Formats: sequence, C-alpha cells, structure tokens
Amino acid sequence: MIDFGFSISKPRVIDIDSNNLRKSNEIIHEMPELQACIGCGSCTATCTAGNLTDFNFRKIHTLVRRGEYQGVYVELNKCMLCGKCRLVCPRGINTRGLVMLIKRKLGDF
Ligand code: SF4
Ligand code: SF4
Repeated sequence: MIDFGFSISKPRVIDIDSNNLRKSNEIIHEMPELQACIGCGSCTATCTAGNLTDFNFRKIHTLVRRGEYQGVYVELNKCMLCGKCRLVCPRGINTRGLVMLIKRKLGDF
C-alpha cells in the first residue's frame, strides 16, 4: 500500500445503549444540576490545568455522562481543584465538586 503520510481514522461510533450507565446515573443522582450543562466549554476555557496540560474538563464530564469511563480517573488527577471553572459556569454547576464526585465514583476504573 502506498504511504501517503496519513492514515484513515478509526470510526468513533457512540452506542449509548451498550454503555454501562450505572456510575453515570449515580453521579447525576448526587448532582442533578449536571443535567443542566449546555456544553458551552467555559469550564475548559478557564481551566488552570487546561492551560498547562491537555486536560479538557468538558470532554471528561461529557464522556462520564455517556457512560464512557476509561481513563477518566487518571485524567482527573490533572485537576488542581482551584475552582475557577465553578466561577464561570453559566448554569451554576459546582464543577469543582463534580471533579471530586466523579473521582470518588470512578475510583475503581
Ligand atoms: S461551564 Fe458549565 S455549562 Fe458550560 S460546559 Fe462547563 S459545566 Fe457545562
Ligand atoms: S478546579 Fe480543576 S477543572 Fe476546575 S478550573 Fe481548576 S483545575 Fe480546571
């Protein structure tokens, strides 16, 4: 095969029906305001850890709500718990508390 210097991306199909939503439902049960998230990305835009690393908090909590937990706990270790994300969230979500809640729930992933 000719090497064109690039390859075709693997398809990224999201099948929510086959995901295990148990942890996700537990997290939403403890923090129902998470359902009000509009995915605006303000939390990511202001994130201290995101300025220094590739940490993307909006991506993380979106994955968790979809029931995709792989690698989330390790990724959340980049958070410095500074709380800036909470100050800017237009839906008033306690995002700093959400970091700690997700880590507590996903400790075994
Ligand atoms: S700032 Fe708030 S509403 Fe916007 S993506 Fe983050 S959690 Fe969701
Ligand atoms: S608390 Fe964590 S996620 Fe929020 S702005 Fe600070 S480093 Fe980023």
